[in-house]
This record gives sequence, C-alpha cells and structure tokens, in this order.
Amino acid sequence: AIKTVDDNYFGSYSSFGIHREMLGDKVRTDVYRDAILGNPSLLSGATVLDVGCGTGILSLFAAKAGASRVVAVDGSAKMASVATQVAKNNGLLYDENVKAEPKQGSAQLISVVHTRAEELNQKIQVPQNGFDVLVSEWMGYCLLYESMLSSVLYARDHFLKPGGAILPDTATILGAGFGKGGTSLPFWENVYGFDMSCIGKEVTSTSARFPVVDVLSSQDIVTETAVLHSFDLASMKESEMDFTASFELRLSESSATVPGVTWCYGIVLWFDTGFTNRFCKEKPVVLSTSPFSPPTHWSQTIFTFEEPIAMAKEESALGSSASAGTDDCPATMLRSRISIVRASEHRSIDISVETTAI
Ligand code: SAH
Repeated sequence: AIKTVDDNYFGSYSSFGIHREMLGDKVRTDVYRDAILGNPSLLSGATVLDVGCGTGILSLFAAKAGASRVVAVDGSAKMASVATQVAKNNGLLYDENVKAEPKQGSAQLISVVHTRAEELNQKIQVPQNGFDVLVSEWMGYCLLYESMLSSVLYARDHFLKPGGAILPDTATILGAGFGKGGTSLPFWENVYGFDMSCIGKEVTSTSARFPVVDVLSSQDIVTETAVLHSFDLASMKESEMDFTASFELRLSESSATVPGVTWCYGIVLWFDTGFTNRFCKEKPVVLSTSPFSPPTHWSQTIFTFEEPIAMAKEESALGSSASAGTDDCPATMLRSRISIVRASEHRSIDISVETTAI
C-alpha cells in the first residue's frame, strides 16, 4: 500500500508512548480538566466535539462534567478504537444501536468517530445548529510546529454553532533573551575538571542554525518577556497562522542590577493558551509553557545567536549603536523580528528570528 503523508502523521500518534507523555504531563492535563470540570454553566447539558481525541481523555472529562452528548474524533484508526474501548470500559460509550439520542446522566454519552475532523459530517449527523463546545489539544512545539490548528479551525467553522465555545480560546507566543546558563557552554567548560569548551562552541554554533527544544529555567532568562503574537481562536482565520512580528527585549530588573555587562546568548520562545472568562466563566485557566512555570512536555524552543550580545541598562551604555552588543559598547535592547510560515511539508513550519543589538 502507498502511504500518504497523513497516514504517517496519524501513524505517529498511534504509538502509546506519545499519549503516555501527554497524559503524564500533569500541567497540561490538569488545566484541561480544570477548564472542563470547573465550568458547569458551559459544559452541563452541552453537546461537545473533541477534535483529535487520542485516548479520549478530554471526552471523558466532558462526560463527567455533565455534557449531554460528546463526539470524539480521531484520524488515527488505532486511537479511535482505543478511545472506543476506554469509553466503553468506563460505561460512557454511546451505543449506536440504541436509536434514541443519548440523555444527560444516562452514562452513554460518548460516540467515537474514526475520521479526519474535516470529514466528520460525512460520517455522522452533526447536530443541526452545530456543537455547543469544541475542545481540542492541538498545540505543537513553539505552538505551531506540527500543530493541528488548521483542522481545529475547520471544525470550528463547520461544526460549532455560531457563538459556540472553543477551548482553549486564546493562544499567545512569547519570548525572552537567555544567558549562558541557557546554553550547554557551562557543561563543556568543565567536564571532570577538563576544558572541553571547544565542543561547547561547536554545539552552540550548530544550535544557531536550528531551533532546539529544551527546558530553560527562569534563572537563565536575562531580559524582560515580550509578547510576540496573540491568536483569538474563536475568530482567527487559517491564514493568520503565518505571521511576522517585531518585538523589543530589554534587560530584566534582576539582570540590570548585576554590575558590568550581561551576555545574552539567544532568544527562547514559548506559548500560553487561555481558557478565558469569555467561555469559562466560573473558572478561567491558563496553560503556560513558560520557563517561569513548571515544565511541560513542550519544553521551550531555543534560538541561539551566532555570537552572544553584551547588554547593559540604559544609563551605562556609551558608544554608538553601530557596534552595539560588544563588551565596550553593550546594547541597551534587542530588536527582533520573527516570522513563522507554514512550510509546504505537511504541518511543518519555517521559523526565522533575526535580532539586532541597539
Ligand atoms: N486529546 C488527546 C490527544 C491529543 S493528541 C489528549 O489531550 O490527550 C492529538 C490527536 O489528534 C492525535 O491522536 C491525532 O491522531 C489526532 N488528530 C490530529 N489531527 C487530526 C485531524 N485533522 N482529525 C482528527 N484527528 C486528528
């Protein structure tokens, strides 16, 4: 058989390891649970569409929250059959042979449908005015890498009722500059007392060409945080997934008080998704993948500069901006431009970050 790109994509979700990783990511799964179980005025009696159900966890939460009907959709045949079994074993599978509509509290709420979300209406009768609530965990590395956002937006536009709730309903990409501690240089500088910094330099210059997914800690951050881009998931168009943004980074308060210059080695990006009080009135929550928050399986996405940039606070900067960023003439801020564009390769993205020392 000839495999299409999509077969491979859904195939990659069929191994349980990745689902184990997602379910075991307590930060992630707790936020979804809190959003779904903490907002009874939204979920109680609602019809819910779970786009990309995987093991079915979000549908199980929705059923527990008192939804009247839950449709769980997955493009992976394996995951659709697993979610069916899980719903059944928990007494929550809707029996298609019972012709009546599922009733709230009947404990037969979840229908699992094996399909790409885009083709849902070819498989089942979608509620006439659309679902009340769409829930999905679609985020990829750096928010958009391998993300299934376009499928979620398609499902929103075709299967959600007008004004229906989408969970989460906001997504924001943020960034900050990091210091030496955010690189592998300190490790290579002292390996059992030997100097292997030549390896460290090679590793850092390689990661200057490719973004690296890794966890930084708040102590590695040397600048203020900037918001690069915000998406309103209830209203955005698919074309907005490609964007260019400019942002400025100044030394953080704590770095500014350190005597001398502070070296910035690169820029780290992360994202937050919001379950805001627009739909989650009782309990709005935020899923943050920030280095200032407990780590998640998304880690952060790290862009290392070719050469580190020296920074100092406004008053101590002396020279002209032509050579800003050196020890003699530290930069007072970084001006960066990021562009994220979907690549022709399925679900992949091209990210570029260009930074000037000012
Ligand atoms: N909701 C689950 C799984 C999230 S992973 C959880 O929170 O744990 C995303 C899932 O979406 C995968 O199982 C993948 O197979 C499925 N998926 C991705 N794109 C899809 C699409 N266009 N239509 C249906 N399912 C999709």
